[in-house]
Amino acid sequence: MMEPRPEPMLPTTGPRCRTCGKAIASDFPTAPFCSQRCRMADLGRWFAGEYRISREIQDSDLEAGD
Ligand SMILES: [Zn+2]
Repeated sequence: MMEPRPEPMLPTTGPRCRTCGKAIASDFPTAPFCSQRCRMADLGRWFAGEYRISREIQDSDLEAGD
């Protein structure tokens, strides 16, 4: 029977990936994310939030003047 190996060299406390919550080293190249993928995912979520905040374009927005 094989037992699962413990995670090597990952701190149990300290910074964690903001996207997936995985523990990372503070000097990690992609900190505060565990990977470039998670960094981009967070960025995309941030932009999505921005778009959600802005209201829908209405007819009055398209009319110049007045
Ligand atoms: Zn992550």
